[in-house]
Amino acid sequence: MSGLADKRKFYIGGEWVAPRAPNDLEVIDPSTEEAVAVISLGGQADTDAAVAAAKTAFPAWAATPPAQRLAHVEKILEIYKRRAPDMAAAISAEMGAPQDMSLNDQAAAGSYHIETFIEAFRDFEFIRPLRPDTPTSMVAWEPVGVVGLITPWNWPMNQVTLKVIPALLAGDTVVLKPSEIAPLSSVVFTEIVDEAGLPPGVYNMVNGDGAGVGSQLSVHPDVDMISFTGSTRAGIAITKAAADTLKKVALELGGKGANLVFADADDKAVTRGARHCFYNSGQSCNAPTRMLVERSFYETAVEQARKVAEETAVATAHQPGRHIGPVVSKQQWDKIQDLIQKGIDEGARLVAGGPGLPEGVNRGYFVRPTVFADVTNDMTIARQEIFGPVLSIIPFDSEEEAVAIANDTIYGLTNYVQTSDGARRNRLARQLRAGMVEMNGQGRGRGSAFGGVKASGRAREGGVWGLEEFMDSKQISGWDPDA
Ligand code: NAD
Repeated sequence: MSGLADKRKFYIGGEWVAPRAPNDLEVIDPSTEEAVAVISLGGQADTDAAVAAAKTAFPAWAATPPAQRLAHVEKILEIYKRRAPDMAAAISAEMGAPQDMSLNDQAAAGSYHIETFIEAFRDFEFIRPLRPDTPTSMVAWEPVGVVGLITPWNWPMNQVTLKVIPALLAGDTVVLKPSEIAPLSSVVFTEIVDEAGLPPGVYNMVNGDGAGVGSQLSVHPDVDMISFTGSTRAGIAITKAAADTLKKVALELGGKGANLVFADADDKAVTRGARHCFYNSGQSCNAPTRMLVERSFYETAVEQARKVAEETAVATAHQPGRHIGPVVSKQQWDKIQDLIQKGIDEGARLVAGGPGLPEGVNRGYFVRPTVFADVTNDMTIARQEIFGPVLSIIPFDSEEEAVAIANDTIYGLTNYVQTSDGARRNRLARQLRAGMVEMNGQGRGRGSAFGGVKASGRAREGGVWGLEEFMDSKQISGWDPDA
C-alpha cells in the first residue's frame, strides 16, 4: 500500500480533512489491474459534517450577486484548463480512457460544460415579468438549497461539471459524492475548486459508496435536492430513499439507444454508428447500441459494422492513439462476458469479436469489439444496457416497424436516425420516445440540454435548462414595477 497515492482526504468547509474513521478502498487501473491510489469511503459522520458545512454556507452564497458567482466559476474554468493534463491522467488511470481521448474528450467535456454554462448564465434573468403585459406579476428563480451530487465513473468530469457548475451558479451549496470506482478526477477537480477560492462550505466533496455516503445524502433531512447520474437501479433506490424528506430528485440514468439506418442513408452512416457504439469502450449511456437497418441494405450494413469492429484497436490507456481502452472493472468485464454469451445462446449471429480477451492480451479488463446480427428485440442483448463495445444489429421492413422496435424499450435517452429523406427525419424525430434524437451524425447544438424520458430519468443537464434544474421558480404578484 505504501507506493500508492494517498487520496483519503475529503474536502469539507473549505479544508482537506481526514475521514472520521478509516475505510480504505484501492483505486484499480483497469489497463493494468494494479492499484494506483487509495481513497477512504466516508461514513455518516463525514456526510453529516459535509452537509452541515453546506447548510451553514447556503444563506450567504444564495445572496451573493450573480456576477460574483460567475467570477468564481470563470476562475474555476481558468484553473481547469491549466490542469487539463492532470485531469486526463487521472481519468485514464481510474477508468481506462486512452490518454488522447481522455484529454481531448473526457477532460475537455468538463471545460466545454463550464463554458456553455457561463454563456447560458450571462443571459439568465433571475427575476422577470411573467409576460410583457403583466408588470406586477413576476417569476423569480431561486436556489434549491443544499444539493447532493452523485456521479458515475464512465464520463467522470462530464458528469461532475454538469452538476457542480450549474448548482454553484444557481446559488446552491453542494456535497459531491463521486463514483468510488473513479474518484481521482474528482480529487483533481476539488483541488481546482479549492484554488479558485470559493467561500468555505459552498463546495464539499466526500468519497464513498452508494450504500454509505450515497444513501446517507439521499435520506438526509438537510439535503434539499439530489442530482444523480448512474444506473436505473440506483436511480430507483435514491428516489425511494429521498421520498420521506420530499427532496427534489433529478435523475440521468441508463439507455439502450436505437440507431435507425435507412437504405438511403449516407455512405458513412453504419461506420459512424458502429464507431460511436464502441467509443469509450461502449461505456456511454447514450451509445447507439441497437442498430436497426432497413432490410434491403441489411447485409451490406452487417459487413460494414464487422469491418469497423475488426479495425478497432484495443490497447492500454497509457499509450497515444485512437484505440479504445479497457472497460472499467473486473465486475463490468464479467457482466459484459455474460451478456455476450447470452447473445450467442439466444441465437444471435456473432459477426465479430466474442467472448474472452482480445488476442495477445493477458491482463487488463479488455473486451473484443463485438457485433451481433439477426438480433431480435426480445433478446437480452437488445433489452439490457451492456456498457461494453457490443453492437446489436436488427433488421426492419418499414418505417413503422422501425419506430415500434426503437420505442420498445424501458429506456428513452438518445435515438439516432440516418436517412437522406428530410421529411422522414422530421417525422421520426417526433415519433421516437426519447429525450434526444440525433440525425445524420449531427451533434446537438452548443447550449442544448442532455436528458431522457422513461427509465433513462427525466433530468435536463446543460444550457439554460441545466441551470433551471438547480433552482425553484417563485411566482410573485403585486410587484411594484416602479419601485
Ligand atoms: P451506479 O448506479 O452503480 O453508480 C453511480 C453512482 O451512484 C456512484 O457514485 C455510486 O456510488 C452511487 N450509488 C450506487 N447505488 C446508490 C444508492 N443506492 N444510493 C445512492 N447512491 C448510489 O452506476 P455506474 O455503474 O457508476 O454508472 C454506469 C451507469 O450510469 C450506466 O447505467 C449509465 O447508463 C449511467 N449513466 C447515465 C448517464 C446519463 O446522463 N443518462 C450518463 C452517464 C452514465
